[in-house]
Amino acid sequence: MPYLGGKELKRVYELAQREGFALVANNFAEPNVLIGLLTAYSEAKSDLLLQISLGAAKFAGGGKPLAGLRALSSYVRALAAEVEIGVFVNLDHITPDHIQDFIVPALEEGLCSSVMIDASALPFEENVAVTRQVVELARPHGVLVEGELGVIKGVEDEISSEEAFYTDPEEATEFVARTGVDLLAVSVGTQHGVSKGRELALRVDLARQIAERLEAAGHPVPLVLHGASGLSGDQVRALVAAGIRKVNKDTTYQYVYAHTACSFYLESRAGILAPEGTDFDPITFESGAGWAPNKKLFDPRVVGRKVQAAIAQVAREMLNQVGSEGRSVYA
Ligand SMILES: [Zn+2]
Repeated sequence: MPYLGGKELKRVYELAQREGFALVANNFAEPNVLIGLLTAYSEAKSDLLLQISLGAAKFAGGGKPLAGLRALSSYVRALAAEVEIGVFVNLDHITPDHIQDFIVPALEEGLCSSVMIDASALPFEENVAVTRQVVELARPHGVLVEGELGVIKGVEDEISSEEAFYTDPEEATEFVARTGVDLLAVSVGTQHGVSKGRELALRVDLARQIAERLEAAGHPVPLVLHGASGLSGDQVRALVAAGIRKVNKDTTYQYVYAHTACSFYLESRAGILAPEGTDFDPITFESGAGWAPNKKLFDPRVVGRKVQAAIAQVAREMLNQVGSEGRSVYA
């Protein structure tokens, strides 16, 4: 199945709203994480929502975000054609200064199913104006728009803030009504980056209040949780029960990637690093001491396959927490 656009993603969120589950929004910047995710989601018959941040696009494009987005999108498109689930791409945390050079071409070239405009660092009125502008740009392309209200503690992609604020349900309702966003990122006590579940003043009750207020006002948009790495399975399940429909995950994959690669390389050290005091030339492959590295260990595909398998394993656990298993609209 080729990867799909905003109209098809909207159907997945509608099902999630009706049946009370959520999608994990999975950040990636390179193929190993993507392949691990596709494996896990295909097996679980869950639709797959991928996320590309501006930083990830910049990385994949050798410093050029739009080139990187085109490259990652092509990769996703090619691999998505081989699986039986719906595969979607969200642009994550795009700041107002990148509307013209990133969001507009992404919309015109059909590179995303949804986009998150993050103007949460701006005062409320300016946030409304900028978000509304992106909604108007995205509408003709059928692309969904996620807005954010309230500052999320920690470091977001190219944004940092000192204070954690909780989203106000009244303000949330006004924001959705005035901007026309399809999804709303709320701040209910999670922190960005790694956070320890126990230390959070997590407000599940606030997520529920916001969802109920939006529903009563006739704007029942799916709610989005950022900064979810570090939450326990029970916390995630409680938040989904309270109305969260999209759970962003980035840091968990980063850690699993590093842990897997680091463990493998430490175990494989003797086959990759020349013994102390031995010179080894990577071009001629000559060493003074008759030592040679082991290709079965240093070929990057060897560690890559291990990373893919580890990502698949943790992805299975997380999609199970949000309840999207077996719920693909497109399988
Ligand atoms: Zn975020």
